[in-house]
Amino acid sequence: MIYLYKCNNCKKNFDVCKPSSDHRTEEKCSCGEIAQRVFTIPQICIDNTKAEYNHGLGMVINNKRQLQYEVDKRGLIEVGNEVPSKMHANSEKVKEEKFEKRWANALEEI
Ligand SMILES: [Zn+2]
Repeated sequence: MIYLYKCNNCKKNFDVCKPSSDHRTEEKCSCGEIAQRVFTIPQICIDNTKAEYNHGLGMVINNKRQLQYEVDKRGLIEVGNEVPSKMHANSEKVKEEKFEKRWANALEEI
């Protein structure tokens, strides 16, 4: 089912596709605040993906939206879906941290 949520912090509206058994679970907005569910008639998620067992998640995934929901719920990034600019920014940050650590170590040795 697709449920509509509204964030009272940043006023963003967003849909979440999740099983009806999880309709009471809280949803976080991208700003980090817990969003409020907007009570509407939930819509059915239609997706042509066949249900298959996902070894990484250890459960049967019925569609792409459910996969995205489960991945987001666990704070994971599906391999192959990384955002290249974010990966690049992160690798630059790691490089800078290593560089600064080496400098700090070198200065201690002097
Ligand atoms: Zn928000």
